[in-house]
Amino acid sequence: MHSLFYYSHELTRYDFGPDHPFKPERAQKTYELCNRYGVLSGPRISLKSPPKLDRETLLLAHSEQYLDALERISKGELFQEMLQFGVGTEDNPPLEGIYEWSTRCAGATWEGMASLLEGSADVAFNPLGGFHHARRSQAEGFCYINDLVIAIQEALSRNARITYVDIDAHHGNGVQEAFYGDNRVQVISMHESGKFLYPFSGAIEEWGEGQGQGFTVNIPLPPGTDDELYLDAFHRVVIPLIKDFAPDVLVAQIGADTMISDPLTDFMLTNNSYTEVVRNLKGLCGKILATGGGGYDIYRTARCWTLAWAILNGIEPEDEFAGLVGGMMFGPEMEVSSLHDRPYTVTGPQKDRLRRDVDNTIEFLVKRHNL
Ligand SMILES: [Zn+2]
Repeated sequence: MHSLFYYSHELTRYDFGPDHPFKPERAQKTYELCNRYGVLSGPRISLKSPPKLDRETLLLAHSEQYLDALERISKGELFQEMLQFGVGTEDNPPLEGIYEWSTRCAGATWEGMASLLEGSADVAFNPLGGFHHARRSQAEGFCYINDLVIAIQEALSRNARITYVDIDAHHGNGVQEAFYGDNRVQVISMHESGKFLYPFSGAIEEWGEGQGQGFTVNIPLPPGTDDELYLDAFHRVVIPLIKDFAPDVLVAQIGADTMISDPLTDFMLTNNSYTEVVRNLKGLCGKILATGGGGYDIYRTARCWTLAWAILNGIEPEDEFAGLVGGMMFGPEMEVSSLHDRPYTVTGPQKDRLRRDVDNTIEFLVKRHNL
């Protein structure tokens, strides 16, 4: 087995602005934590620098006009029409250098996919990727270039079958849109219901169109969902779906904004369910391309991604004392002195309400997909 970890210190320094929740620095925290726990070394692991992508490859996911506009914005030009490309909003500010930054982040996801398809790696992780909201001609939800769509299109051009699993708290609308009519890509998104959260899509009724019908699966879950309910949905719906489809490569957007402490979302998850999901995904496909995504509690996100990387490599990181340096606890594991969260369960009438809601969703999907 060979694994690739994509990282560039320079890319983690890129700044969306002090008031913007998206902090590329999370990838640096992840890298440091992985090193501290010793899960980035060994003969089977390579540290790779994200490459640039050429225009032709970017066109796999985006229109020429959009890429032109993004290049101008990136040079510091401001113009009225940028709003029609989704730039100039609070979520997607016109940032200098955004074209170069985004296309290098996407380069890592693309190269990771190419390596899996060529057989030179079995696992690739890009903590600087996972921009699932970006659309063909529009930036959306902190996402300017959709690295996932680029990588999946690349795989399709080489006749691979792909399952895309999105466990970010937000619906993976950009990826869904790109493959809505396609039966070569299975697109599964578990997310907080669009009744409550951006991008307000991903309803259970959205299940693909034409030849792609049945190949898009949305699992919207209510605010307050805890580990137990989340794992029920994952085990009863996601696992049998992937087993049925039997992909050549599994693409996993493992955003960590589902965590209980995330400031932008309303799930009540701990990384105990997060790690169980990653462990199961690992068992479902021999080739996995994982990317980051959301995650606005940056230390908890770094813990999630460190654990995910370790699990994808079949390593159980040494816990408890690895964070002790000179007798002082520091960094992301400080609050619990461990990479793992303490368990948390919702109880009482609230749980009963949530249980009914989640069970209805599961039963609907089990029936529709004959699971
Ligand atoms: Zn998200």
